[in-house]
Amino acid sequence: MRLSNRVLALKPSSTVAVMNKAKALKASGVDVLNFGAGEPDFNTPEPAKRAAIAAINANNTKYIDTPGDLASRELLAKLLTERSGVPGVTKDHIIITAGVKMALYLTFQALFDEPASEGERREMLLPVPSWVSFAPMARLAGAKIVELVTTPEADFKVTPAQLKAAINPRTRVILFNSPSNPCSTMYTESELRALAAVIADAGKTIAPDLCVVSDELYQNIVFGSVKHFSIGACPEIAERTITINGPGKSFAMTGWRLGWASGSGDFGKSIVGAMTKLQGQSITCVPGFSLAAVRAALTECSAELETMRAAFAKRADLIFTLLGALPGVKVARPIGAFYVFPDISAHLGKTSPAGKKLTGAAEFAAALLDEKLMAVVPGEDFSSEIGHKHIRMSFACDEAQIREGAKRLGEFIAALR
Ligand code: GLU
Repeated sequence: MRLSNRVLALKPSSTVAVMNKAKALKASGVDVLNFGAGEPDFNTPEPAKRAAIAAINANNTKYIDTPGDLASRELLAKLLTERSGVPGVTKDHIIITAGVKMALYLTFQALFDEPASEGERREMLLPVPSWVSFAPMARLAGAKIVELVTTPEADFKVTPAQLKAAINPRTRVILFNSPSNPCSTMYTESELRALAAVIADAGKTIAPDLCVVSDELYQNIVFGSVKHFSIGACPEIAERTITINGPGKSFAMTGWRLGWASGSGDFGKSIVGAMTKLQGQSITCVPGFSLAAVRAALTECSAELETMRAAFAKRADLIFTLLGALPGVKVARPIGAFYVFPDISAHLGKTSPAGKKLTGAAEFAAALLDEKLMAVVPGEDFSSEIGHKHIRMSFACDEAQIREGAKRLGEFIAALR
């Protein structure tokens, strides 16, 4: 029996695939070193767990408002205003969804259409390398993806000139993800303000319905040199910006599957309303008792947040130093999030000890898993142009694992012929 063309054309997520494979190998007793999953090794902070348990015991186990309960939306609106400086956010500008992925999914569904003809297809400008699911999700909604290729020399950041040259009347979305998965680099406030000026200008002229989607999931995992800044705080583009966030990475709550999207002003209300309609026709709402944990995480867990951030900062230094010392491995210093995206292209074309020809990152990662029991995500799905030269390693694991991983990678490289 046939499946839909939509689903037949969809590639599976390579991050999820590596994560599942590594977990399955571990469960079957294989001692695999997992650098695949972007998932903190910490436990959810106790106050958050206690709040959810108390909410269950208080029988907060019924449906809640489709966009999320009032207390949570009010808190998120306050934090977006006070901590992130985004103007014009109220409870009516927030929707809480099942994970940041669902927030992005609903956003794209609300912004793109399947066009009558190819020439009418609207574009999403995507600075790459970028996380593997942005492009497939936007494509599912009808977008054409236009990759803006960034380089290690430019810290994997798009410039105002590059952005200006790419915007045209078909551009609907420009996506930002700072700190970045997989590059772990960040835009400074002044860089984002300069990009916002280009967007505001284009919005007044050639692209009136241009929107910014800003995925700020790693907002709290930053290591000092650059402060996180929300592009939605630039007043001239606040009303065309959808800011996405969630507790998964910062508060070690990946399995809770919670995230949110927020807008500002009239457009913010209308897009959140559209997403609420989609949520009402899909999952109805998220579990209310889990939002008690989110409120506790956001208001009572700053000490735990800082402990985890400091640990990630130490790990960032360690992995940068160890990988940087390996022959033929070029790595940028991570300053936010918890990934490195080393360039291993010096080793492509070589053959592994087991006789595998390493033609790209996919073959490199597969051989590394088979021969050294080390799971990394191949770079291909992070950028069609330069991804094959890179692997992504998550350092959301302890220092002993980072040392062992660097050792195994060094041995693997040394044995290539
Ligand atoms: N976001 C994480 C990652 O990039 C988890 C897997 C996924 O959703 O892609 O590894």
